[in-house]
Amino acid sequence: MTERKDLALTEPGCGRPFDESLLTGYLDHALTQEEEQRVRVHLVDCGECRKLTEELAMMRKTTMGTEFRVPSDDQWDERPRGGASGLAFGVGWLMLIVWVVGVVGFALGEAWQGTQSLGEKLAAFGGLSAVVLLLLSVVIDRLRARKSDRYRRVEK
Ligand SMILES: [Zn+2]
Repeated sequence: MTERKDLALTEPGCGRPFDESLLTGYLDHALTQEEEQRVRVHLVDCGECRKLTEELAMMRKTTMGTEFRVPSDDQWDERPRGGASGLAFGVGWLMLIVWVVGVVGFALGEAWQGTQSLGEKLAAFGGLSAVVLLLLSVVIDRLRARKSDRYRRVEK
């Protein structure tokens, strides 16, 4: 802070015929044509003020950078929750489905081979199929609910 003030105080030694605030205005393109001209002419001659202007511009950029990040911070607030945990959630369900389908498929194959009567086969097949169908319906409902309430807003 004091460093900046010292710098500003020593600057006019170069004979700059205007206030430092004009440099800021120059960066913001907020000056009148006449003022801008004045600043530009001096900057051509004065390396010190050029440096100061560059410094101001850099500070401006940093500030803008942080300001620019603020609105997206709001979005990020919600996104990791919806995104990361949502992804884990989805993957978890997917793995469960794969696992169940695998186990059930294997069991069905075994049952098909091992059982003798058609009645037993139908009983095994029907029961397992019912479990799978119920599970699938729950999963589909869940995924659909998630998609409509959260994902639509977050994703483009
Ligand atoms: Zn100067």
